[in-house]
Amino acid sequence: MRLARARLAARTVGFTESVIREMTRLNAVHGGINLAQGFPNFPAPAEIKVAAKRAIDEDINQYAITWGSKSLRDALARSYGELYGMDVDPETMLTVTCGSTEAMVSTLLAIVDPGDEVIVLEPFYENYGPDAAICGAAPVFVPLRPPEYRFDPDELRRAFNTRTKAIIVNSPNNPTGRVFTREELETIASLCRDHDAICVTDEIYEHIRYAGEHIPMATLDGMADRTVTISGASKTFSVTGWRVGWIVAAPELTAGIRKVHDFVTVGAPAPLQEAVVAGLALGRDYYDRLAREYRARRDLLVGALERAGFAPNTPEGAYYVLCDIRPFGFADDAAFALWLVREIGVAGVPGSSFFSRRELGRDLIRFTFCKTEDLLVEAGERLRGAGDRARIAARA
Ligand code: GLN
Repeated sequence: MRLARARLAARTVGFTESVIREMTRLNAVHGGINLAQGFPNFPAPAEIKVAAKRAIDEDINQYAITWGSKSLRDALARSYGELYGMDVDPETMLTVTCGSTEAMVSTLLAIVDPGDEVIVLEPFYENYGPDAAICGAAPVFVPLRPPEYRFDPDELRRAFNTRTKAIIVNSPNNPTGRVFTREELETIASLCRDHDAICVTDEIYEHIRYAGEHIPMATLDGMADRTVTISGASKTFSVTGWRVGWIVAAPELTAGIRKVHDFVTVGAPAPLQEAVVAGLALGRDYYDRLAREYRARRDLLVGALERAGFAPNTPEGAYYVLCDIRPFGFADDAAFALWLVREIGVAGVPGSSFFSRRELGRDLIRFTFCKTEDLLVEAGERLRGAGDRARIAARA
């Protein structure tokens, strides 16, 4: 039977399902080591697990206030003040969301009209493409050029125009591992000010750094009112499945974002919001330890990848490594990633997932190192054998 009209809205056509999450499913089928999707295989801090159980036992089991429990908003406002000197009013400037994934899409739905241009630095975290499509934005891509993954300030300047509504910035950056310098952030900030654009900044990896400092965009001159800061508990407290994220923005922006958030999700899980309060109380020592432990994992995986012939970049922050796969002689990144998970038992994410056009990422694969040492060592050993086998497979 031919349908008179399309069943699906046009907005679903412009993007595919997540390749990152597809690689996780594929890895499960082949029983491999999942260095694809960025979620830890080690425990969350005991303090927040105890607090979560306590919250459920105390029957904090009904809806929290839609924009976040008072205790979590208060704790977040305190934490932003202490860590970065940011002046965040918990009553008018904070929205707690179902992960930073919801934070990004609720933000864009609240600020972007169909046809508005949104600048995205490329390569970018896979979600930003579909996020732009869902809200009808016209994405404008500006490259972060290897090997340093810096943008050209002139090229960025040329991307801004009267139709530019926002720019999405992600530092520490997934997938490149860049931590943008103050100078780079200032360049972006001054373009936002000149063009009356909003900076949507995804700072989910703020505490996972090996070089540089984390400078929230909202702390730069004149940026507090035109910045939407997104972060969350997932990466900082190793609880990606809890779905607790948040948004800091000026009251006017927050009012719009809260309306979208309310009607899309009502709210993030109430008992887990209480648990994140306990996490935030851990403070600087915890964040320092987190970064130290991730540095050891980074060095382990980067070393193993070098020995296996992958020419990895060394990230300054976040927990991903981008690798050049040209030495392996495959037709493209997807063919290589598929072969790797099937034959070698290690899953990575094909580079094309991070680009607007597939061919831009065809020479790359991304691995995550948010895994325990034993798993990283085992993955390294498997990858070491991959070179010779890849050359044979590519020839066949
Ligand atoms: N940020 C993680 C990654 O890039 C995954 C997040 C997710 O799948 N929601 O792998």
